[in-house]
Amino acid sequence: MAIWLKRGATAEAKADADRKVRDIVESALADIEKRGDQAVRDMSIQFDGWARDDYRLSQSEIDACVDSLTPQERKDIEFAQTQVRNFAQIQRDSMKDVEVETLPGVVLGHKNIPLNSAGCYVPGGKYPLLASAHMSVITAKVAGVKRVITCAPPFQGKPARAIVAAQAMAGADAIYALGGIQAVGAMAIGTESIDPVDILVGPGNAFVAEAKRQLFGRVGIDLFAGPTETLIIADDIGCDPEIAATDILGQVEHGPDSPGVLLTNSEAFARETMAQIERLLDILPTADHARKAWETYGEVIVADSYDEMVSIADDIASEHVQVMTADPDYFLKNMTNYGALFLGSRTNVSFGDKVIGTNHTLPTKKSARYTGGLWVGKFLKTCTYQRVTTDAASSLIGEYCSRLCALEGFAGHGEQANIRVRRFGGRNVPY
Ligand code: NAD
Repeated sequence: MAIWLKRGATAEAKADADRKVRDIVESALADIEKRGDQAVRDMSIQFDGWARDDYRLSQSEIDACVDSLTPQERKDIEFAQTQVRNFAQIQRDSMKDVEVETLPGVVLGHKNIPLNSAGCYVPGGKYPLLASAHMSVITAKVAGVKRVITCAPPFQGKPARAIVAAQAMAGADAIYALGGIQAVGAMAIGTESIDPVDILVGPGNAFVAEAKRQLFGRVGIDLFAGPTETLIIADDIGCDPEIAATDILGQVEHGPDSPGVLLTNSEAFARETMAQIERLLDILPTADHARKAWETYGEVIVADSYDEMVSIADDIASEHVQVMTADPDYFLKNMTNYGALFLGSRTNVSFGDKVIGTNHTLPTKKSARYTGGLWVGKFLKTCTYQRVTTDAASSLIGEYCSRLCALEGFAGHGEQANIRVRRFGGRNVPY
């Protein structure tokens, strides 16, 4: 039986925090609905101290951000964008349209149709998270979305130059310096100055994630991608405590509401990792967020076996799962609930977050039970079609359909079938 050496916040405390965010988001979205641009502006001033007449950046503002990059910065962003684009393109190429004759004269198919427009949110409250620009904008463009607009909050009182450069280099059609609920609300609902989009994508803090959740239905959303979560599965063969501690702190620095969990089969390893975390917290420049997150949400679990570790990990359904054990592939084979897996100690979440090419927009709050992360498929609608090419096929399917409609009591549906049996099968089926 597993033991918990450290437990995170209770379910009630988490639910209470969620309820507060839900209420704030609900009234903010209602305000945008009612007052459009004016509400967006008021919120931008209230939450970000950021006022402009037009939140869309001009071409000269965008060019200035791109030109501000050093040659090395530009090369690094280009390298990361190339990796993201290449993998997205391979995923796109794997999504084939289908057309097949399932019975003589019966042709069924599906087409993968790109959405017409997407709104990509790039977070930037605490850190200018430029990598999210590659993850959303490039993936949408590879999928074939025609209109891709993007929002990011101001950083330290002005548009975040590296985010804006990355948004532009990724191919965004319009860039807005707007953050939080006001950004996703404006993109989904539409205002006098922003035309609404078909889908909202991208990660963000609890307010952004909740706003997307509440807007779902009115627009599509990629997934619930809120505050970062990380689970480290480690043993003393595949990892050492300093790496495990570094990898937990590397993710909980995202913000005070980011859980970091260690799951291991060795109590000695667990205790040494906890000691390393305390040591590193004393020197980490971002320890403010990291310490709060670790103290409030951090967990340390010691399990008896790999099987028990798989079952606990599947129950947690963490956004990121790093596996640093003697046999990482055991977890690849057996785990079913995770946003992304990072196998072996040579890789880590930061590689995935910034540069390696897999998408970093990933499911949180247990939504990994029913979805993976952002990818080209989220920007494509898989729509079916059918064709019946012979009279015999029409009347054969018509007879089955007619009887099944009668079983359901659907007279009108039944007659749609019957008229075809009469026309194409030459048999007189009564109305
Ligand atoms: P952010 O851009 O998501 O949010 C900043 C905005 O929040 C501000 O512009 C402001 O308008 C709004 N805001 C702040 N306080 C508010 C309040 N009290 N009421 C209403 N609105 C408020 O940037 P961030 O805050 O730095 O958060 C980024 C988040 O993205 C982190 O939590 C990080 O873990 C998460 N993230 C998630 C993933 C994922 O795929 N799940 C990936 C990367 C980052």
